Amino acid sequence: MSLAAPVRTATPPGNPGVEPDRHACGNRLIDALPRGERTRLLAAGKQVDLSPGRVLHEPGQRMRHAWFPLTGFVGLSMRTFHPSRMEVDLVGNEGMLGVALALGVAECGERALVLGPGIALRISATALHREVRRDGALRRLLNRYVYVLMMRFVQNAACIASHKIEQRLARVLLMSQDRAGSESLALTQASLAQMLGVRRVGVTEAAGALQRLGCIRYSRGHVAVTDRPGLERAACGCYRANRASHQRWLG
Ligand SMILES: [Zn+2]
Repeated sequence: MSLAAPVRTATPPGNPGVEPDRHACGNRLIDALPRGERTRLLAAGKQVDLSPGRVLHEPGQRMRHAWFPLTGFVGLSMRTFHPSRMEVDLVGNEGMLGVALALGVAECGERALVLGPGIALRISATALHREVRRDGALRRLLNRYVYVLMMRFVQNAACIASHKIEQRLARVLLMSQDRAGSESLALTQASLAQMLGVRRVGVTEAAGALQRLGCIRYSRGHVAVTDRPGLERAACGCYRANRASHQRWLG
C-alpha cells in the first residue's frame, strides 16, 4: 500500500493547542520535512505491519530497506557474551531504522526486533539514496538524527555503567511508553532483562520496587504505567537528557 496520501493526522508533540497537520503521516522525521520532500518520500514507500517478534534485520545482512515506524516500536540489540544479547536502543515514530544507508553503509549492524505492534513506512535503499542525493532537507535532517543517535548511545553507555537497575528500568519503560503511545505495555520479563542487560531476577526486584512506589503495575508479560510523573522521578537523568537532545536537534 502506498502512503502517497496522508494516513492520519497528528498533533505536533508538546503543542496541544496547535492545529493538527492534516498531511502528517505519523513519523516525526518524515513529518518534519517540507511538504514536497515529504510527499515524494511517502510516494516511494510502502506501508507494512510491524508484528511483535518479527525480525526486520540481523547483523551483517545487506540492508535493503529503511523503516520509518508510524506506530509501534522496534528494539535494536547486539550480541554480547553475558547476557547473550543486549538492547542498545528503541526506535519508534520519533526515528527510523537504516539511517546508515544515508551514510553510504548498506550493512546492518544490529538485530532489529519488533517489540510493540504497529505499522511502518518501508522505503527501498535505492529510493532513500535517491532522495538523500538531492542534498535537500532530508539529508540535513538525517545528519542531525545521526548526531542525536551518537549522543544517545554515549548517554546509554554511561547509564549502564553508573545507574541502578531500578532507575534504568524506569527509563526504558518511559521510552517504551513514548513509542507505544499507550499506558499498557506488553513486555515480557525476558525482553526487559535483555533491554537492561541483567538477569530476570534483577527485573523482578526492580519492577517490584517501582510497583511499591505506585509507578507501575507489573504482571507476567504486562506492564501498566499507573503514575507517569512518578516514573519520571524514579528514572535516572539519562531519560531527560536523551529527550532534550532529541528535541533540541530534531524538534
Ligand atoms: Zn541513566
